[in-house]
Amino acid sequence: MENFNSANIADFKNVWVFCEQRQGELMPTTLELISEGRKLADELGVELCGILLGDKVEGLVPQLGAHGADKVYLCENPLLATYTTDAYTKVIVECVEQLKPEIMLFGASNIGRDLAPRCAARLHTGLCADCTHLDVDMPIYKDFLKKSSTLGDEKIDKMGTVMVQGEKHDVSRDLKMTRPAFGGHLMATIICPRFRPAMATVRPGVMKLSAYDEAKAASVKVERPAFSLADEDLKTRVREIVKETREMVDLTGADVVVSVGRGISKDVQKGIALAEELAEVLGGVVGGSRAAIDSGWLPADHQVGQTGKTVHPKMYFALGISGAIQHKAGMQDSENIIAVNKNAAAPIFEVADYGICDDLFKVVPMLIEAFKAAKD
Ligand SMILES: Cc1cc2nc3c(=O)[nH]c(=O)nc-3n(C[C@H](O)[C@H](O)[C@H](O)COP(=O)(O)OP(=O)(O)OC[C@H]3O[C@@H](n4cnc5c(N)ncnc54)[C@H](O)[C@@H]3O)c2cc1C
Repeated sequence: MENFNSANIADFKNVWVFCEQRQGELMPTTLELISEGRKLADELGVELCGILLGDKVEGLVPQLGAHGADKVYLCENPLLATYTTDAYTKVIVECVEQLKPEIMLFGASNIGRDLAPRCAARLHTGLCADCTHLDVDMPIYKDFLKKSSTLGDEKIDKMGTVMVQGEKHDVSRDLKMTRPAFGGHLMATIICPRFRPAMATVRPGVMKLSAYDEAKAASVKVERPAFSLADEDLKTRVREIVKETREMVDLTGADVVVSVGRGISKDVQKGIALAEELAEVLGGVVGGSRAAIDSGWLPADHQVGQTGKTVHPKMYFALGISGAIQHKAGMQDSENIIAVNKNAAAPIFEVADYGICDDLFKVVPMLIEAFKAAKD
């Protein structure tokens, strides 16, 4: 588009969230991002807009309003009924070129991970993947650093400008996108100072969902931006969607997660059976460390951590898990962490609310009995 230049930063306004739906159902990450986007839009004093693509999906709009969207850009077309990279990229890029959002957020789902980089490249802007924290407002960002980083207050207080191509750049209106780097050994904050929109993906379960607000659900505005899409724009066709018959575990939505690690290696079958029994008594689900997944003891969708799922249940059990930084990245915000490990120096005890230093094969049966007795 002729009047679009991603380097003309002053042209861009508002926060957008890509509202991922599959077969007419919004993905939970979408609502988490709408909740987070609300915070960013308020910090910037702008509107929060959802962009919803699909066919006959207008019925999803109130949900987006209820969690904080002021407006939803609705793009309906039979060719958008099922996700394809070509069609979704084309429509989103056309809408961004017309309406020029300042920030754009995507869920780091398979679809988001496919779509966001394609859009960023077409729009000639930057994308930061798998963010775990987002801020705009400098005082709020500095507060976050003071609470969560090892940087001294003096260093943090001085922040406000960076050098960009030899010139001082004020970062106060930039999106600060924080994500793990170097295998999770440090956190990096990334900005996109020269181009807009600043684009980020965020994994499911990372951002907190705001409460459903009936009044906002009723007042959200809908606009239908113009876009062109023809059959010949689609290079790929989805002929059929076949759902996996195995039920995927809902780790992110569970109140209780019982995770096992390499510590069950002495008797894997028994270790998993104990975790399943404990989870069943407490109405929870079984998760695992990457060591447990890589060993083939549990399917990949059970993995908790930086490259697995991020969970914050009411109770998180870490059974025979050492507490590597990449594992902690996915569970340390749980309300109560109960760790069982026979090594008193295991790092998991640093984040545990309750630590039991002993053999899990001895401790877990006792826990099961105790919780069963408490229920009766
Ligand atoms: C880029 C990258 C991404 C990663 N992403 C993830 C991720 O998403 N999730 C993740 O979990 N890891 C991840 N890892 C791997 C991570 O670094 C660790 O290797 C992994 O978490 C270790 O798993 P573990 O704690 O089960 O095993 P170990 O570190 O081997 O710990 C086993 C623990 O069990 C204890 N134990 C042994 N026997 C018993 C017993 N009978 N009773 C009680 N305790 C016992 C031991 O004392 C030990 O502390 C990642 C690594 C990298 C480099």
